[in-house]
Amino acid sequence: MDTAQPGTKSQHQFPCKDCGADLVFAPGTNCLKCPYCGAENCIPDAPPGAVQEEDFRATLANLTHSQDLQDTLAVKCVACGAESQFGSDVVSSKCPFCGAAIVATAQSKKQIKPKALLPFLITREEASTAFRRWVASLWFAPSELTRTAERSGIDGVYTPAWTYDADTDSAYTGQRGDDYWDTETYTDRDANGNTVTRTRQVRRTRWSYVSGQVANQFDDILVLASNSLPRKIAQRLEPWDLKNLVPYRDEYLSGFVAESYQVDLPQGFDTARGIMDGYIRQSICRDIGGDHQQIATVNTRYENITFKHTLLPVWISAYRYRERVFRFLVNARSGEVQGERPYSAWKITAVVLAAIFVVILIALFAHAH
Ligand SMILES: [Zn+2]
Ligand SMILES: [Zn+2]
Repeated sequence: MDTAQPGTKSQHQFPCKDCGADLVFAPGTNCLKCPYCGAENCIPDAPPGAVQEEDFRATLANLTHSQDLQDTLAVKCVACGAESQFGSDVVSSKCPFCGAAIVATAQSKKQIKPKALLPFLITREEASTAFRRWVASLWFAPSELTRTAERSGIDGVYTPAWTYDADTDSAYTGQRGDDYWDTETYTDRDANGNTVTRTRQVRRTRWSYVSGQVANQFDDILVLASNSLPRKIAQRLEPWDLKNLVPYRDEYLSGFVAESYQVDLPQGFDTARGIMDGYIRQSICRDIGGDHQQIATVNTRYENITFKHTLLPVWISAYRYRERVFRFLVNARSGEVQGERPYSAWKITAVVLAAIFVVILIALFAHAH
């Protein structure tokens, strides 16, 4: 195990023909640009259909001796455990995921190669502006936060994800409930205190045993493969325009950090299956029909399972405030902004006290009249 310094010249470099500096991918274009002299080197357009699905079971079966695996030298953050590769020209002195000063160890890992990605569309300037605007909009945020936010930079990170397709066939048993109205007789007392018999309509449900079969087709069920980003917040960055995936090329990573996946291919499928099962239950309920449905058993066969290993572009600013890590994320395709934030106890207390003071003033004023 070596200690590695991210930012040291590594892996893939694309030197500028004119000045020799590293070209970096320019978000919103399809080109690498030289940050010093502005020279451009564009990536040829991929033919339509270039991003292909891969067979899930065949890939798993051949995984040990597969050319689909790549040896990557990942940098592991000692503070938060995130593992990532730093593209050429990424000069970072802190971990993009937790904001800790980088104390990292290099680790060689065998991982499935990403075959597709969504290139960065939102620029660093746009992301930084969104971050400042977001911080400014926070009520009850500690004043120090604004300064911290100004200081903390923003990093472009490719976060790993799996997408799964499958055809499913589900045999089910259960109960179908049909409502009907029944006339019920009951006794009551009339105005004179005599017992009388009356009738009323009540709704009842007749249950009957059902069984059947439903088929579903799933396309691009997305499972995030990172544990370094807070899952709840990362999920709120969805949806991703997966229809615009392009074939993986090292050029797209130039200037960015690529995170290694921590949720592997079979674990990702377990999660995807949970998502699919929710839809399958809905389709079973539709198939049962009636007014109420109960599902007793479901037996699903998954066929034609395919997957894509993709990278999704995210701008991240991780800032530390009072020993805690807060993260601000931007979907670098849609511009969707999500963040974690601290609250200032002092500011909240001040507002509550001010509100109590106003209430007392109003009460005094009303009393005086
Ligand atoms: Zn140049
Ligand atoms: Zn970290």
